[in-house]
Amino acid sequence: MNLADRLHTVAGRLGGRAVLTLDEAELTYGVLDELSARLAGLLRCRGIVAGDRVAIMLPNVPEFGVVYYGVLRIGAVVVPLDPLLKRREIAAYLGDCGARLLIAWHAFAETAEAGSAGTKADCFFVVPEEFRRLLRGVPAEHDIAVMDADDTAVIHYTSGTTGRPKGVELTHANLAGNAATVAHMHALGVDDVVLGALPLYHTFGQTCSLNATVHAGARLTLLRRFEPGRALEVIRRDGVTVFQGVPTMYIALLDHPGASDMSMLRVCTSGGAALPLDVLRAYESRFGCQIIEGYGLSETSPVAATNRGGHGRRPGSIGWPIRGVEMKVVDEEGREAPHGEIGEIVIRGPNVMKGYWNNPAATAEAIRDGWFHTGDLGRVDEDGFFFLVDRRRDVIIRGGYTVYPREVEEVLYEHPAVRQAAVLGVPHPELGEEIEAVVAVREPVSGEELRDFARERVAAYKYPRHISFVDELPVSHTGKILKRALTASRVSYIESN
Ligand code: AMP
Repeated sequence: MNLADRLHTVAGRLGGRAVLTLDEAELTYGVLDELSARLAGLLRCRGIVAGDRVAIMLPNVPEFGVVYYGVLRIGAVVVPLDPLLKRREIAAYLGDCGARLLIAWHAFAETAEAGSAGTKADCFFVVPEEFRRLLRGVPAEHDIAVMDADDTAVIHYTSGTTGRPKGVELTHANLAGNAATVAHMHALGVDDVVLGALPLYHTFGQTCSLNATVHAGARLTLLRRFEPGRALEVIRRDGVTVFQGVPTMYIALLDHPGASDMSMLRVCTSGGAALPLDVLRAYESRFGCQIIEGYGLSETSPVAATNRGGHGRRPGSIGWPIRGVEMKVVDEEGREAPHGEIGEIVIRGPNVMKGYWNNPAATAEAIRDGWFHTGDLGRVDEDGFFFLVDRRRDVIIRGGYTVYPREVEEVLYEHPAVRQAAVLGVPHPELGEEIEAVVAVREPVSGEELRDFARERVAAYKYPRHISFVDELPVSHTGKILKRALTASRVSYIESN
């Protein structure tokens, strides 16, 4: 099987229906299938063969689908790169995966060119009007390569910022299976319109938005980048029924003055980062639609658990593992932890990656006895609902006491003035680490008030002693507050003061 097979099959049934749209630009299933076959032909002419890595650096535009399925069609491997990467990062990823070609959006030509210099990769730039014209002149490659269950489809580079980059190898089976499960879970059908707000270069957007849409024969209406006012316009204009977002998007929608009833949204999902319970409640009561929280990682294609299914929903929980996937909480020795106890979440199932590209040591460290070790801490309750506690590396040890930043962040989010909050450990000569909060606020509030608010609600060793204010916290495209960037800047701030 090949991920591109599904596109081809659906195109046979629904050829005239729109699949990818961006404002006036529209691709139907038939045209997407045909153009991707022509892109495959172009790759052939350039000597690309099955197994070669082709990096793609494209924003959320319909051409993303053409290139993505075109590369997969001939059995080559897609390496999606964040279009905002800088020269050095591009060079590191291209070097690591040994890409032969970098297909980049014309606007990123300069950095793409600079990043690929000195690597094996040639550059090809996508200029929308020329691109279609060029493809029309290329013979289509209609055969779709037959892939084995463990053939790699995509290599995703994880967000880690230090050390050697780690490329997550996901197979056609990993991705097709996860997309089918997502489509099934949300009962996606041909009349659904999915909002493409998540970046397509990331697994979350790629599986849950692009591949699940194609699996179901639905339509994906793209946003170049998320902006709440624009998102609301598109939701209304296109009759969007499915919104997949990250917590920062929900926070931005809540803060937007123009946001009103959105009960036409049949499905709203959140993942990628913790959704504060207060945000969930405020969103649901204001907009009249439920948010289903999901959990996963690039290494799990990405969806591993969701707070909906035959077991009902429990706000604040990431729910149950999805069909075919097993998940448990283990202690330091790898033994299953009793209900309620905090340990590392491990995952086993058809969604778990093949391994890290060319990195057997990292793969052996992550996948032990068939279980993928997530580095996330969680617990499971008596009824089998999983709760995420925090990333293991973000845990703070203050004077010997363990503090989970997320618990303190949740408390800060309860304060009406707080829009974003991050709780960090900063070095302290006696305690090892001290608790600091960095917040962005909606309305003026003093650090003292916030500190007292937290002090009344959590144990004495947990409340933040320093509160700093910023206009905006740095957030990744997938909604993660970039704590390491924040730690570096805060530490120097404290030292110099
Ligand atoms: P990535 O590999 O970029 O997809 O990031 C995966 C990480 O995102 C996980 O290890 C979690 O720490 C975090 N994450 C994903 N979903 C959730 C969620 N629902 N709540 C909290 N953190 C999440």
